Formats: sequence, structure tokens, C-alpha cells
Amino acid sequence: MNSTDRTATCTCCKATSDLHIFQQANLPVVCNELRDTREQALSVTLGDIDLIYCENCGSISNAAFDPERIEYDALYENALHFSEKFQAFAASLADRLVADYDLKGKCVAEIGCGDGYFLRLLRRRGAGMAVGYDPSMSDGRLASLPKDDGVTICPEYFGDQNIPDNVNALICRHVLEHIPSPVEFLTDIRAKIEGHDCVVYFEVPNAGWMLESHSLWDVIYEHVTYWTPEALETAFRKAGFVPLNISTDFNDQYLMIEARPANVASTPTPTGRSPDLKKWQSSSQNFGAVTRQLLNGWQERLSGMQKEERSAVLWGGGSKGVTFLNAVEAARQSVRAVVDVNERKQGKFVPGTAHPIVAPTELRALAPDLVIVANKIYLEEIRSEISSMGLEPEFDILTG
Ligand SMILES: [Zn+2]
Repeated sequence: MNSTDRTATCTCCKATSDLHIFQQANLPVVCNELRDTREQALSVTLGDIDLIYCENCGSISNAAFDPERIEYDALYENALHFSEKFQAFAASLADRLVADYDLKGKCVAEIGCGDGYFLRLLRRRGAGMAVGYDPSMSDGRLASLPKDDGVTICPEYFGDQNIPDNVNALICRHVLEHIPSPVEFLTDIRAKIEGHDCVVYFEVPNAGWMLESHSLWDVIYEHVTYWTPEALETAFRKAGFVPLNISTDFNDQYLMIEARPANVASTPTPTGRSPDLKKWQSSSQNFGAVTRQLLNGWQERLSGMQKEERSAVLWGGGSKGVTFLNAVEAARQSVRAVVDVNERKQGKFVPGTAHPIVAPTELRALAPDLVIVANKIYLEEIRSEISSMGLEPEFDILTG
């Protein structure tokens, strides 16, 4: 890839930037679509990453992103709620939103709702009518969901035709980072809820955490923009919202904003360099060098294990794991399988590398020497499950 001499445009504020901070060629363009066969897994579309940092708003964009390459469909599987840790986070978030915004008996809606898990949590805490939108919900998946629980899921995009008249809270989790023109997307939502007494809650991966913990496994082709708090605030103000609260959670890995439509056109965030933007710029510039060393370290370690005929498994078939397997060449041989607790993933194959996804119970037969845990936040959960099987492998984590 020889694109680093080019100036590129920030997806958030549209300023130009020539601060290229990280490149990685040939990652699957959709890493959350596991495949039914090895052959399908090995023939997925690949794309390149070329991250630029924007000095003006503090966001990071993939300058090599091409929306034409990506299509999300019913194969898309990004549900995180099979982990106890994630369930606890989602439950406390639902408690907080219902309490802070007085949502008892109120209408709530969610863009990118998946199977409606979070809407059901809000309903159980007293929210009224709940409507979700998700074009990846197939007829089969819809049919398997609970009936008559007050949650309606529309297998389509959020639009004028399907928005409830009285919506009081609009939730959107882990979607904004996928949108090629995020400010236009937010502006459109702002227009659709015009006249409603409606708070919006958005949650995205926290780019600040990614930069500071050098988590290159969070760099995936599906993500067009990586959000720092400053960038998220800029986007919401540009789209005509007033931010009420910007915070981080889930060990700082998630960044969240609550906002309301501004009554008058809000003033844009001043473009003068704040100390935080300077800080993100220097973290961004370190990120490329540090992550290259990390990649080389894993490559040496796993090729060493291969020579000694020792084997590894990876725990976690989400995006971090898929990126790791695709970015570290030696993982193709030395990592035998990927363990995932999500039954919908088991029996499938990792896009790009064709590693099989197996249930935790298959670990006994695999008897790995090393278990690589994709996300440190799940380490204790996984360690206790493995020791209950009588196995004593080494553990390591991809990200802290
Ligand atoms: Zn920008």
C-alpha cells in the first residue's frame, strides 16, 4: 500500500489530513459474518486499512474505506450479550437510562437493535412501547424471538415511515462507527425526531481507549470512523444536537453520548487545539509504531510454538479475534480453533482464515497449550470455565 503521501478527508468534520497512523492490508471487509464452510471463509472480500488522524476534530478515519465493498445481511452476527460481563453492563445501562430520562411507560426505539435484547431490558424496567430497526434480522430469526413481549422489530432501516409518533428515547449502539457519512446520518435522525420530546443515546467503541491500550485488534474494515470524546461531541453539535453527557464504560472500551435536539442551530465546537486533541494526536502517532511491534511479537511467538508442535486456541470469535487471526500470519497454523460461547457462531468458520468456531466443551479434546483471550474483560470468566474442565493451559490476552 503506498497511500501515505496522499491527503485524505475526515469522515466526521470533512477537514483534510495527511497524518496516516496505521496501515494493514487484506482484512475481511465484514469480519462479523462467519461462514458455513472453509471454502466460503477463504473466498470472502478483503479490504485495506489506512487510518488518518484528524487534527481538527480528533477522529480517526479509514481513508481506504469503500462503502461499495460492504453489504450487511442476515449472516451478520454481532450479539455480545452471551457473556455475563456484557449482560451486567447492559442491565446497569438500562437501569440508568430508565431512571435518568424517566422512561417508565414511555416509548423507546433502537436503531440496529439486533434481536431486541436491549429493548427487552428497557421493557422489564418499565419502558412502554418498544420498537427496533435492524435490516439484518431475517424472517427465520424474527420467528424465533419471544412474542407478545411489547417489543416490535422491523427488519428494515429506521425511516420516516416506521418511527412511532411518541418516541421518547432513541437508542443506537455500535452503529455510528459503521456509517460512511456519520454527521449526515445524525442530521437525518435529528430531522426525523423533530417535534418529539426525545433523548438520544449513542454508544461506540472508544478510540481513546484503543489508542492508549494499542489495541490494533479493534481496527476492522467495517469501522469507518474511530471516535474520541471530542470527535463525538463535534459530530453531534454539527448535526444539531446538544450533548447532555459524554462518558466511558465497559473498562473504558465503550464511549457513550446522551443528547437532545438543539432548539436553535448550535455553535460548532471551536476548532482551536485543545490539550486533549494534542494528546490524541500524539497517541495516534505512537499507535502505528507500537502496534507493528505487537504484531511482530505475536508472529515470532506463534511461529515458535508451531516449531515446538505446541498448539493454541483463541477464545472469542468476535471482531478482535477475527482481526488477530487475519493479521498474524503464524496464527493460521498454530491456532487450531476459536472458542465462542455464542451457539449461533459454533460450527462456522472465520472469514479470511477458515479457523473453525467451536463450543467450550470441545476444549478437552483440543487440549491447547495456550489459550489466547481476545478481550481481557472476559479473562476471569474464561479461566474459571477452563479450570473446571481440568485443563491447565497458559493464558494470554490480546488487549488489556
Ligand atoms: Zn475531523
